[in-house]
Amino acid sequence: MEHTTISLTPEAALKAYDGVNLIGGARKTSAATLAVTNPATGKTLGRAAAADAAETDAAVAAARAAFRGWADLPARDRGKRVAAAGRALGAEAETIARLLAMETGKALRTECRGELTVAADLLEFYGGLGSELKGETVPYNPRMLTMTTREPLGVVAAILPWNVPLVLMMLKIAPALVAGNTVVVKASEEAPFATLQAAEIVAGFLPEGVLNVVCGTGIECGAALTAHPDVAKITFTGSEAAGEIVYAAGAKRIVPVSLELGGKSPMIVCADANLDRVVAGAISGMRFTRQGQSCTAASRIYVHADLMEAFMARIGEELSTLVIGDPLDEATDVGTIISARQKATIDRFVALAEETEGAQVIRSGALPTDPALSPDLFMQPTLIAGLPEDHPCVTDEIFGPVAVVQSWTDYDDVIARANDSRYGLAATVWTTNIATALDATARLEAGYVQVNQNLTIQPNVSYGGFGRSGLGKEASLEAMVEHFTRKKTIVMSFDA
Ligand code: NAD
Repeated sequence: MEHTTISLTPEAALKAYDGVNLIGGARKTSAATLAVTNPATGKTLGRAAAADAAETDAAVAAARAAFRGWADLPARDRGKRVAAAGRALGAEAETIARLLAMETGKALRTECRGELTVAADLLEFYGGLGSELKGETVPYNPRMLTMTTREPLGVVAAILPWNVPLVLMMLKIAPALVAGNTVVVKASEEAPFATLQAAEIVAGFLPEGVLNVVCGTGIECGAALTAHPDVAKITFTGSEAAGEIVYAAGAKRIVPVSLELGGKSPMIVCADANLDRVVAGAISGMRFTRQGQSCTAASRIYVHADLMEAFMARIGEELSTLVIGDPLDEATDVGTIISARQKATIDRFVALAEETEGAQVIRSGALPTDPALSPDLFMQPTLIAGLPEDHPCVTDEIFGPVAVVQSWTDYDDVIARANDSRYGLAATVWTTNIATALDATARLEAGYVQVNQNLTIQPNVSYGGFGRSGLGKEASLEAMVEHFTRKKTIVMSFDA
């Protein structure tokens, strides 16, 4: 299989991807650029392309021109290329993980390396599924052959946020490509460089124009992409507010739209739960090492009153051992918040809690003192207890290292409180009683419900929210077949 391998250090990658889009297999300099900041140092890391409508149109045109040739390849051949790209990405994982840490502020050891592993795994997983794009035969009439086939949709627009850009990109492009679509990725303007580098590696295994990346603002580049008449499908991960706009843009042209939006996921801890597992699960589930910047963060923790005191003591103790510091330092557990804008939003939520009578705001761990770092975007893991259920910190997504901990005594009441949310992305229940576990999994209104654990996205496990958390599923074979193909029914008479 012919391919070009791109191997770049983070410093070389920053130069190579400065102000460029990836269109038709080549780096194309954009007419305008946007500064990208290293959140840990506060210094400019580089400049991202600020694609306008014309540059976005060029990317869609390249994808459209490549579509027929790509769709006409045998599905297994497409899959083999995608799987090989996964292996190549794995070989470059360490340098791309460093670049990702530099642009997102996420810690290299606890977050970025793992993200690269999952991103490569997603390409390999979907790469093996080409032969599963099957149709059905239908027993309609014995004198007619009735069958369904699955066809690619055309050009897919894949819009990404900044928090886990590589995993979220692969969740979209791997199934879309294997199913025979061509893709235009819209990278996050806040973290575009690792996306470009990973995408260029994948594109090296594909015909020109099959995978393209544009960078720019949502309002200009994103809107141009969602409104483009040649885009046949939109898959979006990001905020609820932008999701609404993207959905409306898809509605205007009657094209399918998948949305992965926000969350405020409940974690219900019963009195009989294993406290060791609960404390570890709350820390990993809340994604404190990612500064809580996760859509599935277990950000509403409902602890049975009998365990409340012990839970607060234990989790405070554990959180205080997390090392907050330079994302590239091997000793660091927790890096920074992505941007000053995001930090200001988080600070506003915490200030609201501090103004609330009876609320306790507990910060754990030490902020870094290294003069090479900018102190602005570092933040301690924060727990807030004693809030009313209608407080914005309980009802709204904070997207920062802030979890609310609420006490409960009545099981039916806590299930009702957990479900009293406009979101429905994930939920967990912690109990050693199998009957309680079964009952809670049936009653919790969320797309991803777990018992006694808090796993992240797995390639073969269907993932997606209920309610305002989104529409459609990602990961698993189902996501590829249901969301990146269309079904055709064919009825053939035996009589000519
Ligand atoms: P965001 O909505 O601000 O931006 C996401 C992407 O959409 C960016 O590329 C942005 O440029 C683009 N965009 C913004 N406005 C647009 C428009 N009008 N038209 C087209 N594109 C537009 O989100 P963010 O701040 O980058 O990411 C954080 C959000 O993402 C959080 O709300 C989080 O919950 C959500 N998220 C959800 C999941 C999930 O799987 N459910 C995963 C990660 C993040």
